[in-house]
Amino acid sequence: MSTPEVRKGGLGVWAPSKTPQIGVDLSDEQMMAVAFRHLADIGFAENMAGHITWQPEGQTDMFVNPWGLWWQELTASDICVVDEDAHVVRGRWDVTPAIHLHTEIHRQRPDARVVIHNHPYYVSVIAALGVLPGLVHQTGALFLDDMYLVEKYDGEIDAPWRAAELAGQIGSANLVILANHGVIATGHDLAAAVYRAVSIERVCRLAYDVMITGTAPSTMNRGDMIGMQASLIERAADVYWAGAARMTIKADRGVLS
Ligand SMILES: [Zn+2]
Repeated sequence: MSTPEVRKGGLGVWAPSKTPQIGVDLSDEQMMAVAFRHLADIGFAENMAGHITWQPEGQTDMFVNPWGLWWQELTASDICVVDEDAHVVRGRWDVTPAIHLHTEIHRQRPDARVVIHNHPYYVSVIAALGVLPGLVHQTGALFLDDMYLVEKYDGEIDAPWRAAELAGQIGSANLVILANHGVIATGHDLAAAVYRAVSIERVCRLAYDVMITGTAPSTMNRGDMIGMQASLIERAADVYWAGAARMTIKADRGVLS
């Protein structure tokens, strides 16, 4: 049996000579607020549920959203900082114990500097079926060999040991579907994690729509998907993020305050 030819992708194949930038220098807190607003805009957030944490390289403290504010109303000055044990060390709000899901993933996954969790609608449809979404479109290549399904999830992580158990289960996957609950997307920076978060909702929506046609989807060539995966993460994520930031700031500059 011959192995399928692997198509090369990513920056090794084509690196743009220039890319559109955000246009303003953003503080870490401003970048966080932009990420929340953008993900709320694309329908990723179930009102005030869920978190984004960002543990900058070399730090154990992490930025996080406070309890009670909706993702679409967050501004830079709302962003709190918690230590690795989830104690609030900076900020004018409180943070829920559900944040242990994030602190324990950060503890076990030094590569995952950013962890995003919420219950977007189409992810929730697929999660209700207790399966991973079928990768039936090229955007799905982003998640090739990089997804994990937590088959039993009881909904509320309120203690570090329960979160540590879950973090141990997911291994190196950057995308985790929690049955009957939602999703966790990780990345080495905000751009990569936000891109995975945005893409998984689209992937699940598309998988659902294909499923309800009742027709078996055409399968993609694995070798092509490997190249596409490299292109999406190496080339598209940063450019996507810059555009998301430009449009979010244009819609309401108040996000930066
Ligand atoms: Zn949740």
